[in-house]
Amino acid sequence: MANLFCTGVTRQVSTTKKNEERRAYFAEIFLSTNVQISIPQIPTEVDDFIDDLFVLADGKEKANSLDPDKPVIRTSFPEGKFKEKLHLARERNQTLVRQAKAQAMARVGSLKCACCSFDFLENYGEVGRGFIEAHHTKPISELHEGGEETKIEDLALVCSNCHRMLHRKRPWLKMDELNGLLAANIPSSAE
Ligand SMILES: [Zn+2]
Ligand SMILES: [Zn+2]
Repeated sequence: MANLFCTGVTRQVSTTKKNEERRAYFAEIFLSTNVQISIPQIPTEVDDFIDDLFVLADGKEKANSLDPDKPVIRTSFPEGKFKEKLHLARERNQTLVRQAKAQAMARVGSLKCACCSFDFLENYGEVGRGFIEAHHTKPISELHEGGEETKIEDLALVCSNCHRMLHRKRPWLKMDELNGLLAANIPSSAE
């Protein structure tokens, strides 16, 4: 697969100090000085690709404009949009998602939402067979640079509604927080 390869520092700069600062800045926002983004394989990936390019260009621009005489100020970092993208990319890791589904099928024989127990097969019939979304429960900010690999245990299988709600507000809700909201708001069937 073709990859665009970008590094934080590609040009020779006048001072080593500035160079180091740029590198540090780039590593801070992108979690690495080597960032690879995939060239779209299908038309629906084009939007994501363009977003990635803009985020990357923006980060690089900011890194390059750092004044070597001023300290790097944390609050000037971009809003974590790239981290969000990394999170979503992890959730799109098809091999791991397939393994997580297979594990659930082997354990309980169905794919139910970990938050609300919704089962696509039960509710939609055949078209829903094998469908569920994967949510990465470990925030990217807790991963170290150079990265631990995503593990199956870090993926929660959730329905599309719950997944949207988990991502609706920043900071994202934790699974147990969403479960708490569900419990508090679902009307009792006895009434
Ligand atoms: Zn759900
Ligand atoms: Zn998610």
